[in-house]
Amino acid sequence: MTLRTLESLGSLAGKRVVVRCDLNVPVTDGVITDDGRVRASLPTLNALINAGARVVVISHLGRPKGEPDETYTLAPVAQRLSELLGQAVTFASDTVGLAAQEAVSGLADSDVALLENLRFNPGETSKDDSERRSFAEKLASLGDAFVSDGFGVVHRKQASVYDLAQLLPSAAGTLIENELTVLERLTDAPERPYTVVLGGSKVSDKLGVIGHLLPRVNTLLIGGGMMFTFLAAQGHKVGSSLLEEDQLDTVRGYLDQAAALGVEIVLPTDTVVASAFAADADTVVASADAIEDTPFGSSGLGLDIGPETAAAFARAIESSETVFWNGPMGVFEMAPFAPGTRAVADALTRAKGLSVVGGGDSAAAVRALGFGDDQFGHISTGGGASLEFLEGKRLPGLEVLGWQ
Ligand code: ADP
Ligand code: MG
Repeated sequence: MTLRTLESLGSLAGKRVVVRCDLNVPVTDGVITDDGRVRASLPTLNALINAGARVVVISHLGRPKGEPDETYTLAPVAQRLSELLGQAVTFASDTVGLAAQEAVSGLADSDVALLENLRFNPGETSKDDSERRSFAEKLASLGDAFVSDGFGVVHRKQASVYDLAQLLPSAAGTLIENELTVLERLTDAPERPYTVVLGGSKVSDKLGVIGHLLPRVNTLLIGGGMMFTFLAAQGHKVGSSLLEEDQLDTVRGYLDQAAALGVEIVLPTDTVVASAFAADADTVVASADAIEDTPFGSSGLGLDIGPETAAAFARAIESSETVFWNGPMGVFEMAPFAPGTRAVADALTRAKGLSVVGGGDSAAAVRALGFGDDQFGHISTGGGASLEFLEGKRLPGLEVLGWQ
């Protein structure tokens, strides 16, 4: 691994260290519903605290529009972080303004401050290099060194991920280091059979991934929202289910490519069809080629893989040596549509080789369904980032840390 790690920064005692974490946790009415990403950030933060650094944590939360928006404040995260670290965390009500400057200058050795949401500033995600750069310079003025530890954002060319790393002595934190150690096992000669399970709702994003993954895997299991674009590509009607009409040709291309490569794409043979997108909707299990033949007709929508599919996916997963899973199999947030996701998660816990779960919602799903993190080989904190890594793409946030 060519990555620069914490040791490369030398002694950090008394130094102000800006740490880019991914604390983008789900928050409902001010309450954090899954603190997995906060917990995942603790090892690096504790290492810096123990080294006597003055720790300045930065992160984004949600997708505010480049200006302050109370819905997306990191204030509840500061409180949770303080509880988990067992020490006070100073929260600054802005990111690079007076409040942030005061919070940083008030730090003693081993103290921690969290600055307000990076994305309250238009420079963070700007496509304009100079606008991004000038925001990164303000961030850089708050530190003597920079540690990048938000794996969930390393595929983004953003000020706090990409530009900042070039303005201060910089290195990866242990979260990124550990993520790469595991993900490298999936890209460099994975143990075979190698199965990838894809689901979720970001259909057009993830369809693009398939072309890159096909030459690398033995089996691809398709569930979640994207299954309907595949079923439609095979000529089946899918009612009111998620469908990307403009991707039908692409998907047909993948099916041909898979056949030519000898890669098995396993599509659902049954699905749970609902009368509406609601937890109390009427439901019926339908064959994947007869989704519109239910009492709900063309208004029925598929919200989970069916039990026959779940069993077939579980068999494929359990007989694999390497499994990577991204994207829930159904709308697991509603109990009637959680069994498919539960079955896949359960199969991963029984897989004999390396099992990796990637993706914000996928990680939240396994926790919400009562699985423990230690039942899987690895739970990646990055969805898009882990997928792009597996595709073999060069990630800007890793390249600036010396990764090749
Ligand atoms: P991840 O964050 O793990 O990468 P995504 O963000 O792509 O996953 O997708 C997660 C969402 O996908 C969940 O909120 C889930 O409700 C939704 N989902 C899964 N299956 C379906 C489906 N058949 N129809 C609509 N939404 C679905
Ligand atoms: Mg998601």
